[in-house]
This record gives sequence, structure tokens and C-alpha cells, in this order.
Amino acid sequence: MIQEKTVLIVEDEPDIQELIRYHLEKEGYATMLCASGSEALNIIEKQHPDLVLLDLMLPEISGIEVLKKVRFMWNLKELPIIIVSARTDETDVITGLELGADNYLPKPFSPKVLVANVKALLRRASTSSSTKNTHDDNLTLVGDLKIDQTRHEAFYEGSALVLTASEFSLLTLLASSPGRVFTRNQIISGMRGDDYPVTERSIDVQIASVRKKMGSGGNLIKTVWGIGYSYQDKP
Ligand code: CA
Repeated sequence: MIQEKTVLIVEDEPDIQELIRYHLEKEGYATMLCASGSEALNIIEKQHPDLVLLDLMLPEISGIEVLKKVRFMWNLKELPIIIVSARTDETDVITGLELGADNYLPKPFSPKVLVANVKALLRRASTSSSTKNTHDDNLTLVGDLKIDQTRHEAFYEGSALVLTASEFSLLTLLASSPGRVFTRNQIISGMRGDDYPVTERSIDVQIASVRKKMGSGGNLIKTVWGIGYSYQDKP
């Protein structure tokens, strides 16, 4: 049984709004459209979309304000939200991710990448709600990557990866949410239990090292220009 999922497109440029709508409906998603932050809040509150594509530069209420309200005032932590924004809004994108947006797509985007992101996020949202109680938090399996947190071991394509403690927590964090973009700040605060003095620069160094150790799998760790990093479940 396939239940149709509804995506709310918050975008004030009619051409982009139409482009996104076209590609999502072609993939079988229902869409709702709006061009301002206040309309977006109204729809989220009353019509409960399954996912939100959020532009940041909007008339009246900005995308950042929408995020704040949804995540902190309404406490809707589980609603998947993807920021779709121009690269020039880099600071806002980082703020948006740190306020709890799940992902970021820079404009101009490829429709294929957009659809893949929507699919991945909706899939993740439905697995996390249905398997919450049986999920083994200590074992992460993403494609050919396996991380056993209890034993502190990581394998790629069956070969053990020899990682430092901080590289291990870095990879565990990224692989815990494939496709999600983490800012450097989020990586720093997510690498718990490290005595290592983690700085933004040291994140970049450790990313380079983990990539090298993963060999052919190293390119699964993507650099998101100006923002941070993400782990892809597919090359
Ligand atoms: Ca805009």
C-alpha cells in the first residue's frame, strides 16, 4: 500500500515553485504551494504536510523564522525540512541547519537531486517512527559501511578501518543520518566524549584522513561547499 505523501513547497519565485511542483508530482507526490513564511506556518499548522521544502529569502516572515517557530515553539522535531536556497545566503543556511533543518540544497539545483533528497528524507522519517523500539542504536549499517559502536569498530566493504577515536566519532555521526548536511559546528558538538580539542580546521583535517582510510569509499563523504559535510549512502 502506497500512501501519497504531501510536500509543502515554500518558494516566492513562481518559476522555481512550478519547477519543483512539476518534478515532485511526476514522482507521485502531492504538493501544496505557498509564497510566504506566514502562509507556510498556516499550512504546516493546519494541513500537516509530510515534508517541507523551504526557501529562506521570503517576504514578511523569513524561512529562518519559520524554522524557529516549527522546531522550537511548536516542537515539531520530526517534520522533515529541506532548505532550498541560493549559495549567497550561506550564513542563513548554516543558521537554518543549526536550527534543525534536515538538509540543504543550493540553488540552482538538479531536479534529480531534489527528488532523491525528498525520497531519502521521507524514507528516513517513516523508518525512524516505525522501528524506534527495535532499532539497535549501537550498530550503523549504511551501504557497505558498518559501524559497531559497542566494539568501537568500523568496516568498509568488509575491511576494518583503522580510525582514531575522534575519526571514529566523526564517521559515526555523519553515517547516522545519510544525506543529511552537518555544519562544522554541529559536527563539533556531535562528537561527544572526545578530549581532543576539536576546531573547525581540525574537522577538515580529520575528514581528509577518514576519506583516505576508506579508499574507494572516501568519496561517500561529500563536502557541501561553504557549509559542512554529509555522508551519502550511494556514490
Ligand atoms: Ca526567495
